[in-house]
Amino acid sequence: MHDYLIHKGQRNKMVNDLRRLFPFDERVLDAMNVIPRHLFVETALAPFAYSNKPLRIAANQTISQPYTVAMQTHLLHLRKWDKVLEIGTGCGYQTAILRTMGAQVYTIERQKTLYRQAQKNFLALGLDAIFCYGDGYEGKPLLAPFDRIIVTCGAPEIPQKLVMQLTVGGRLVVPVGSGDQLMTVVERLPDDQCKITTHGRYRFVPMLEGKDAGASSDHPKQERI
Ligand code: SAH
Repeated sequence: MHDYLIHKGQRNKMVNDLRRLFPFDERVLDAMNVIPRHLFVETALAPFAYSNKPLRIAANQTISQPYTVAMQTHLLHLRKWDKVLEIGTGCGYQTAILRTMGAQVYTIERQKTLYRQAQKNFLALGLDAIFCYGDGYEGKPLLAPFDRIIVTCGAPEIPQKLVMQLTVGGRLVVPVGSGDQLMTVVERLPDDQCKITTHGRYRFVPMLEGKDAGASSDHPKQERI
């Protein structure tokens, strides 16, 4: 059966449950109703893919729970054709939701294993995005400005370099805090002004500096014997 048709019933239930929890933008829920979340997790975890829970992925990271993905996407106020930068590709589930909503997506991951895995997931589903391996704290200055920026890991404070890569009128959605985080929206206004609002507490994996080549590095360290 085609990947997009498997577990359609479970996806529909997940979306109906989300709708009862919060009046999410229906375009977000439509995208979540299409994307097969079970293909973004290990086969052993697939039976749990449509419950409202975060799940373990490679490199000790997690795929955010459906409620969190829906809320961050809702808060982005995404418009079709928006140029979006995502920090923290993970397995690429959030990336797929943004792409399905019509955005042109650039996404950065610091873990090489996940950077590769997300591209495989996209290929399998016939989706496209620009995948970058690097440190999201830097953003993508050469490709800036972005209409929207979404950070899917917990930043200790608002990453100023990312704010500077927003268009005027652009929005950054970022969980801010160590331990747990306040979902924060930064709207860039004219004359380097910003409007900041907060939207409840969440718990994300931390936003870390630098890149991590992981176990599957192309250049394994030489060991002395
Ligand atoms: N977007 C994912 C969430 C993955 S968890 C989803 O759809 O569920 C957050 C990810 O952020 C992890 O994969 C982690 O490796 C990554 N991350 C943490 N700090 C980062 C940084 N500075 N730059 C890029 N990615 C980072």
